[in-house]
Amino acid sequence: MFLGTAGDPIAVSKQLRRSNGILLKFNDVVFFLDPGPGSMANALSHGLNLRELSALVLSHGHLNHSGDANAIISAMTLGGLDKRGILIAPKAVVFGDEKRQAAIDPFFRDSVEKILLIEDKKRVAVADIDIVVEKLIHDEDCYGFRFLSSSLSIGYIPDTEYFSGLIEKFKDTDVLILCVQNPFGFSSHYRLNAEDAVKIIRGIKPSLAILTHFGSKMLDADPIFVARELRRQVDSEIIVAKDGLVVDPSTYSIGSVQSRLKF
Ligand SMILES: [Zn+2]
Ligand SMILES: [Zn+2]
Repeated sequence: MFLGTAGDPIAVSKQLRRSNGILLKFNDVVFFLDPGPGSMANALSHGLNLRELSALVLSHGHLNHSGDANAIISAMTLGGLDKRGILIAPKAVVFGDEKRQAAIDPFFRDSVEKILLIEDKKRVAVADIDIVVEKLIHDEDCYGFRFLSSSLSIGYIPDTEYFSGLIEKFKDTDVLILCVQNPFGFSSHYRLNAEDAVKIIRGIKPSLAILTHFGSKMLDADPIFVARELRRQVDSEIIVAKDGLVVDPSTYSIGSVQSRLKF
């Protein structure tokens, strides 16, 4: 489920779309990716039970990707009373560094059962789901992920600039979630635009690409119109995320579909 699809500080602070936040569900294993401000309340308003989360996954420390991290851990652990769940995040986000404070309060750091610090190419597992970490190029230490089940590979590319090697990192992805902040003809440093999305989708060739994380310029251009043009240039199926969208990607699996997945 895509809780929110806002992608830049203007879109987030004006709530032109709800803040970032993706729920990824593989049977009983549930991941919450990149909770932006307000996404805990947003999740509850959709009737989601955050006590059932298996792991909170943070790609980097920007507000729209970690602003509600403490709130999500609080909901997952009953305010810290029930120590459980896994936090998967870069070291600087968990503990802070010379540039910024930790996004995770020490109390909530101690509330989870396990913390898995990530780095490029690291492979971690949550139950029967393997997660491969891929370093990206952003104005902050930032990572993408490939979630691998027995029958499906879901890739998540958050904030990054396009770089040679990006496609190789995410090859063999069945369903690609792509943060496309900007429309055709508009670029901003360390963020993807629609031209980049064409190159990435052509290179990776997923069965399905889901576009999300829209900046204000993208919203002005209308992601639906941008996707229409993009669709003419790629072979993959394209879905434009909107707030509250639920997609069942199991039909996009290249392998045999045994496990049913929803997000
Ligand atoms: Zn960012
Ligand atoms: Zn972002």
